[in-house]
Amino acid sequence: MTSHTQFGLANPFDTPERKAFRETIQNFVATEIRPYAHEWDEAGQVPWELHEKLGALGVFGFGIDEKYGGLGFEDPFMRSDYAVTMAMCGAGGVAAALGARSISTDPIQKLASEDIKLRVLPEILSGRKGGSLGITEPGGGSDVAALTTTARQEGEEWVLNGSKTFITGGMESDYFVIAARTGGPGLTGISLFFVEADAPGFTRTPLAKKMGWWASNQATLYFDECRVPAGNLMGQKDYGFLQIVNNFNYERLGLVGCALGMMKVCLEDSIEWAQERHTFGKPLIKHQVIRHKIADMSAKIDAVQSNLWIMCAQIDAGNMPVAEICKAKFAATKALEFCASEAMQILGGAGYLRGNRIENVYREVKVIAIGGGSEEIMKDLAMRQMGL
Ligand SMILES: Cc1cc2nc3c(=O)[nH]c(=O)nc-3n(C[C@H](O)[C@H](O)[C@H](O)COP(=O)(O)OP(=O)(O)OC[C@H]3O[C@@H](n4cnc5c(N)ncnc54)[C@H](O)[C@@H]3O)c2cc1C
Repeated sequence: MTSHTQFGLANPFDTPERKAFRETIQNFVATEIRPYAHEWDEAGQVPWELHEKLGALGVFGFGIDEKYGGLGFEDPFMRSDYAVTMAMCGAGGVAAALGARSISTDPIQKLASEDIKLRVLPEILSGRKGGSLGITEPGGGSDVAALTTTARQEGEEWVLNGSKTFITGGMESDYFVIAARTGGPGLTGISLFFVEADAPGFTRTPLAKKMGWWASNQATLYFDECRVPAGNLMGQKDYGFLQIVNNFNYERLGLVGCALGMMKVCLEDSIEWAQERHTFGKPLIKHQVIRHKIADMSAKIDAVQSNLWIMCAQIDAGNMPVAEICKAKFAATKALEFCASEAMQILGGAGYLRGNRIENVYREVKVIAIGGGSEEIMKDLAMRQMGL
């Protein structure tokens, strides 16, 4: 993107392959997304062909076997660079609309039957079809152990009853991974099911207007004696949710990348504006108060960025730093909150206008702080992971 991001640190773990991937995505975002992102956000939708164009670049295929249409390798740095770059496109909803499928594909690869994987994963990864993960219910999202959607076995079928809400991509997805209770109370007792949008007893409605993420849809899903084949049980009965808890690490890592990209938008646009805008006889950037705001933003970006690189390096070496990812998520969203506020202040009234990237970032801070595990839940989880 623009040169201001060059003020930060250089990635000591960079490789020619990672650089090439990053530049491909940056060029794609600059030419195919950024000029239209605001328009799509206002329209509440991205053109479906964009899913397919990104799918063709392989961005949905990290960690997925080639025989299912994936890349056949994992690279946390490339995943993070993708999240950062997409978050700079000017509308977080565009990134969410395209990328949300990834939280469904990891569980499908890990736990679905071979038949389902071979049939469905290539479609989702190529961008031809959407996939969603349904955990949150109208009764709550943080306390997964209390979920109430049920599934009972009847002959060669499972019968689901209940409801899910806030499901990203839910209005357009053909394929769903749904958590439902098959056993007693608690996290043990929750199984995962592969549900197709045309399953009998499945219906959906869109969520009402939202504060941000307009270009992505969130749905409430209803299961009314919804029947799926017995083979759609994913993984071990009663242990499905426990079998995928590790997948949330990548979702959270992606959200750290997303927060970082949004912080970079704050820095870039603040510098650009502060250099152009003159008050009291000099450019804004020559006023000490404004200089300090920019320095503060830049320092927070360095901290979040360094942390992200170190975590990626650890994952690359085979160690998932679960506690650190939880801490990084709430630290990044707090840093983002600071940057969004300071950037809006630097732009003044101009930042308050729709169509401006800062206005968009400001409205979308909270979805990053709440979705994928809220700040409070991340702190609890980090403490437990630290043995406290
Ligand atoms: C735009 C958007 C997209 C989403 N996409 C998806 C999706 O694709 N799939 C999906 O399954 N879900 C999705 N979610 C749901 C999201 O995961 C939940 O919103 C989140 O987990 C919080 O759940 P909740 O909103 O029900 O809040 P609640 O669980 O009701 O919590 C409310 C508040 O209380 C706090 N809180 C809860 N328990 C405690 C505690 N013990 N101590 C201190 N504080 C506590 C929480 O941190 C939160 O701030 C999405 C949400 C949004 C906003």
